[in-house]
Amino acid sequence: MEIKRGIPVSPGVVIKRAFVLDTEDVRIPRRHFIDTDAGGEIQRLRSAVIATRADIAAIREKILKEVSDSSVPNIFALHLAILEDDQFIRDAEKLIRERNYSAEYSVSRALRPQLKRIQGLRDEYLRERAGDVRDVERRLLKNLLGQRREDLQHLVHEVVIVARDLTPSQTANLDRNKVRGFATDAGGRTSHTAIVARALEIPAVVGLGDVTTDVSGGDWVIIDGNRGLVIVSPDEKTIRKYESLEHEYHEKEVQLAEIRDLPAITLDGERINLYGNIEFPEEVTAALNGGAEGIGLYRTEFLYLREQPAVAPTEREHFEAYTKALNLLGDRPLVIRTLDLGADKFPPDAGGQFEKNPFLGSRSLRYCFQHPELLNTQLRAILRASVFGKVRILLPMVSTLQELRRAKEFIANAKARLDAEGVAFEHKIPVGIMIEVPSAAVTAGDFAKESDFFSIGTNDLIQYTLAVDRGNPHVADLYNPAHPAILSLLKHVFKAGHTAGIPVAMCGEMSGDLDYTMLLLGLGLRVFSVSPIMLPELKKVIRSVSIEQCKAVAEAAMKLDDPLATLNLLRGETRKVVPEAYFDEE
Ligand code: PEP
Ligand code: MG
Repeated sequence: MEIKRGIPVSPGVVIKRAFVLDTEDVRIPRRHFIDTDAGGEIQRLRSAVIATRADIAAIREKILKEVSDSSVPNIFALHLAILEDDQFIRDAEKLIRERNYSAEYSVSRALRPQLKRIQGLRDEYLRERAGDVRDVERRLLKNLLGQRREDLQHLVHEVVIVARDLTPSQTANLDRNKVRGFATDAGGRTSHTAIVARALEIPAVVGLGDVTTDVSGGDWVIIDGNRGLVIVSPDEKTIRKYESLEHEYHEKEVQLAEIRDLPAITLDGERINLYGNIEFPEEVTAALNGGAEGIGLYRTEFLYLREQPAVAPTEREHFEAYTKALNLLGDRPLVIRTLDLGADKFPPDAGGQFEKNPFLGSRSLRYCFQHPELLNTQLRAILRASVFGKVRILLPMVSTLQELRRAKEFIANAKARLDAEGVAFEHKIPVGIMIEVPSAAVTAGDFAKESDFFSIGTNDLIQYTLAVDRGNPHVADLYNPAHPAILSLLKHVFKAGHTAGIPVAMCGEMSGDLDYTMLLLGLGLRVFSVSPIMLPELKKVIRSVSIEQCKAVAEAAMKLDDPLATLNLLRGETRKVVPEAYFDEE
């Protein structure tokens, strides 16, 4: 049994077999144990080794002819050497003979010690050779599995996914009924994987470093999304403990569901608005079940990422997705964010240009301005859908007033064309902006004069303000929403919005993080838009505090200059009002 510690990003507890996947290839043995004779399975392994050696030798030959750089063929010589290592083959055969493991599973298991040893080396060059071992493993598994490889869309059993990181298109394509949890090497609280896990309401732990090395496909894994733990091959005692925790967690969920229909109102009578964030229209149901009053953020780029390779949605596909969401919502509002493609939300195979700093590059609105047909198609569909419910347009990553004006021109042109065609739409459709770039936060007063509402995107605002990549586990400890710079920016934006008389919502993950609820209420936030799974607990905190009390907490927090001290203060105050929201470690 091995216990790994990472960043808890989606609550809950689950015990399932692992489905290990690689960014470019799936490498899971379909069968864990064999029911046939060991001799046959060993023969299968030997044949696969021979076939893999032949594959590698052929590639080496080809490269020798085509490339003059001698280091390239050397890599393949190294791959052949790994396969000629008698010890590895003997270990794998022993696992088949003594434990009845399948050839695939034995290969993974037998290579694990090698991988771990290499990853522990001091020399960076040698450490990188772990990639070569993985490569050989992948080739062997391909030969063993042939066409029988499982893929994410057609899972046979319920599993937890173990991966380096999940790409947006992988998550958009996975079989949602069979995936019960995520554990990834990379990622942070606001990474794409984290957001999707919360949307799917499954436990997830990210930023584990090397969980893909420790887990083989088919291993039993516990994911504890409350404490940030992943337990590989748990013993009987641990399984029993977690079965009871799983049960307790579900009971807690049932209790929380009871406050679904109660108003989100503080002890001193302040009414707070709670909305849900979604990536797919069908998630509206989960948001409403959690007690949302509407959808405060619909990330529409997932329409784009659903297919592989990614294809731009047609006007009809946009329209159908929006009307589907509106049908489920009735007269509750739907805030549709225009395409936020690029950086973490760009599929690698979508033909995007290579950028050294994609987060600072052609992302979001900038990307849309460079591909006006994408924005025009989407705007037409949003406008046409606007007669079927309460629709609002939200523009992402606005960093200058000129960008806002330009986007509004696009909207005006789309309206004029629809008018000319005699197509009905809501002429007074509100247009708001994401406040997620520091320049927009600092000059929020100017933006407030030309926006119908604000929605603060703390995921990006924090990364851009603190210069910390939101998905990079190596700097995850620096990604701190309690940094004094963030608190003063937030205070400034609330003030600017309220002075101008426009609503200021927050849809970044900070708004659903209970550690910050009291602070945000104290600073002036009244509209929260969060992952549906967070709604009941958030409402519980809101109903347990007074605005006066929150103002005092915010004032105390603003006086501190150390983000960790601030977080401790906030956690301590929240724990006093809702102790059950915290899972203590044993
Ligand atoms: C944000 O940046 O806070 C946000 C809500 O947008 P996304 O996470 O989609 O970038
Ligand atoms: Mg953002």
